[in-house]
Amino acid sequence: MKWSLNIGKIAGIDLKIHFTFFILLFGVGISGVAAGDPPQTTLMNFAIILALFLFVILHELGHALMARRYGIPTKDITLLPIGGLARLDHMPEEPGKEFLVAAAGPLVNVLLAGVITLGLAVTGFFAQPITSDLIANHFWTQLLLANLILVVFNIIPAFPMDGGRMLRAMLALVMDRVQATKVAAGIGRTLAVLMGVFGLFFNTWLILTSLFVWWSAGAEAESETRKANLKGLTVRDALVNLFYKVEANQPLTAVSQLAMSTGQREIPVTSNGSLLGIIRPADLTAAIQRLGGRAPAYAAIGVEPQGLDPWMPVNDILPRFSECNAQPVIENGQLIGLVTPQSVQQLIWLREHHWPVDPRPSEEKTDQA
Ligand SMILES: [Zn+2]
Repeated sequence: MKWSLNIGKIAGIDLKIHFTFFILLFGVGISGVAAGDPPQTTLMNFAIILALFLFVILHELGHALMARRYGIPTKDITLLPIGGLARLDHMPEEPGKEFLVAAAGPLVNVLLAGVITLGLAVTGFFAQPITSDLIANHFWTQLLLANLILVVFNIIPAFPMDGGRMLRAMLALVMDRVQATKVAAGIGRTLAVLMGVFGLFFNTWLILTSLFVWWSAGAEAESETRKANLKGLTVRDALVNLFYKVEANQPLTAVSQLAMSTGQREIPVTSNGSLLGIIRPADLTAAIQRLGGRAPAYAAIGVEPQGLDPWMPVNDILPRFSECNAQPVIENGQLIGLVTPQSVQQLIWLREHHWPVDPRPSEEKTDQA
């Protein structure tokens, strides 16, 4: 994630802190000073936040280590002011495994809450009369409360919370995954509406959360349907092999004329058939402003994407569109086509309309290997 600071590794997984997290710490400090709190109170608030985020890291680590049991690596764990994010390579699709990976996070907080409760019991905390004032000003009860809130919040059965995935996994035991996702998303949206209405009267923060939950439900259902539609299809099925490209030494004005007259937004730059890189619209305008229209095309190359192998599953390449909308496909060192979000969309459309999209024949794969 952009704007994240690498702070080390935990169990071999990169640990990052998003810079907005420091704004949160800063905000806590400022509001403590503004409220005229004694320094001890502000320090305790800092300590509580740091402990809270330690709990969040352990929660994410729970997901990551459970996923590792099933051979799924985790790219990194990032700490944001709104919580943590463990970027698993993918979610397991078997319902039992998905349930356990999703449940492992909240389970860590249940365990932490248990340990803190035990500690409080051993030190005789519960022997005194428990007042709300005591709970509010006691460091450890605050941490206990924090863990309980993390558990309750995360098991709300709506995407993107862990509870949404747990619900989907349970539904997937009795129906197919796409259907299970749709039902889970419907339940999530119903909860989002309730949350929003509740928020209107009691808490504005809940309104924002409900919008986010509503949006996530739709996004999850959409991504699951797309994955199902693209299952079994490879890059070769999605590639466009009628496209325009320029030679490395052609002038930038020629590139812009080509883009204008063909409507193709990303232009590959080649030299003797082999790909040097891709010029995106923004790269082109920046290069013309900087170097003038007579500069050679290669000077405007903005991305040098890794070429796709024609036999990669289409599902695996979708995240790459965030960097460049035209992903080049390379076979035997030659550029043979481009995969774009539009070409993938077209493939999905054909499949959805029951057009016979058979995976293209794969004989060539054997002689290539
Ligand atoms: Zn979680």
